[in-house]
Amino acid sequence: MLSRNSPLALPEDTGEEVAFFSQAATFRRLWPSIADRLNEVFDDGKFSHGAQVAALERELAAYTGAGFVLGVNSGTDALVLLLRACGLRPGDGVLVPAYSFVATASSVVLAGGRPQFVDVEPASYAMDPAALERAITPESRMVMPTHLFHAQADMAAIGAIAERHGLTLVEDSAEGIGMRQRGVHAGLHGRGGVLSFFPSKTLGAIGDAGAVLTDDPAVAATVGALRHHGRYGRTLAHFPGIANETALPGVNSKMDDFQAAVLRAKLPDLDGAIERRAALAAAYTERLRDVPGVRRLPEPHSEGPGERGVFYVYLVEVERRDALAAHLAARGIGTETYYPRSLHRQPCFAELGYGQGAFPVAEAASRHALALPFHPDLTDDQVRRVCEAVAAFYRAGGGR
Ligand SMILES: *Cc1c(COP(=O)(O)O)cnc(C)c1O
Repeated sequence: MLSRNSPLALPEDTGEEVAFFSQAATFRRLWPSIADRLNEVFDDGKFSHGAQVAALERELAAYTGAGFVLGVNSGTDALVLLLRACGLRPGDGVLVPAYSFVATASSVVLAGGRPQFVDVEPASYAMDPAALERAITPESRMVMPTHLFHAQADMAAIGAIAERHGLTLVEDSAEGIGMRQRGVHAGLHGRGGVLSFFPSKTLGAIGDAGAVLTDDPAVAATVGALRHHGRYGRTLAHFPGIANETALPGVNSKMDDFQAAVLRAKLPDLDGAIERRAALAAAYTERLRDVPGVRRLPEPHSEGPGERGVFYVYLVEVERRDALAAHLAARGIGTETYYPRSLHRQPCFAELGYGQGAFPVAEAASRHALALPFHPDLTDDQVRRVCEAVAAFYRAGGGR
């Protein structure tokens, strides 16, 4: 039996240091229900692909509105299996943004395809529909926009282009839990999408986990088989009506029930955590609005019927970014540079032949973007301290 006291130590508040990420206070608050769920896994004795995973899939289907949710090992595996299940063939081009986490493009290579990069829009960091139209070639077969940080790709515009050119639309919605446009949850605008439950994501596990979201029963059946060595049938017991037929060379990417148990215990808290994130983002924006040296603040998604933004990361663009990050680190304030290199400049994609200057918006973002400490456990006083440290840096000449 696990004790009902959280094993995660709260970081000590020294009055100055601010961790980039922590979920210690959330775990302390939710630990009784997390411990109960984890104890259910011990009692059940099924540690992989068991009852907790099946229950989480049903609960996430209800939360997102997806017809099918398939738990896998990570968001990256979810992308690879989604692309394969949507029929990607060797050498097919997949249009992806030039600015994203590396898995957006490496998943395409792992699924046998070829990334075709597209520049992003400055405010949303998401694929620019006009640039997409120009990047399409006869080899293009799919398009995979990404929703990053606090923003969403323009799915109406991208969906219309995909339809006009006969491209299969899928989404790297790994960061997108809770985000909606025109009533549709991220990942469900086209053939399918994914979620990542990496610990620092909006809904974080205590290790790696991910999921595929789709409304398409054929995609769900194929992902269900691929994650389980290519076996149909058994793994889809909770998807009645899908037959036990084809065999595919699959992988082992089943979700572990301890992760599913933690995620189930945290899911009822998700909407409250998203509201707290919005309040923290507004507090940052208020304090940073007039700080010289801060060149761009995040623009929240327009709220309204069917529209919902989620702040996963609070990202600003600043002058002398690396000097500011060093100044903050010296004061114990954690930051991340998302993403320090645009994808077309990553050595692993060098053979695709894109040069420096090919995607100016992505390249500018990779020079100026800095993510500030951000998670629902952050206090208003910590936000104030971070903003004062940023302002002090520029007041003192900004590292010049
Ligand atoms: C986190 C993330 C992934 C990968 O998810 P993992 O669970 O870490 O494998 C893919 N794409 C984007 C945009 C992400 O942020």
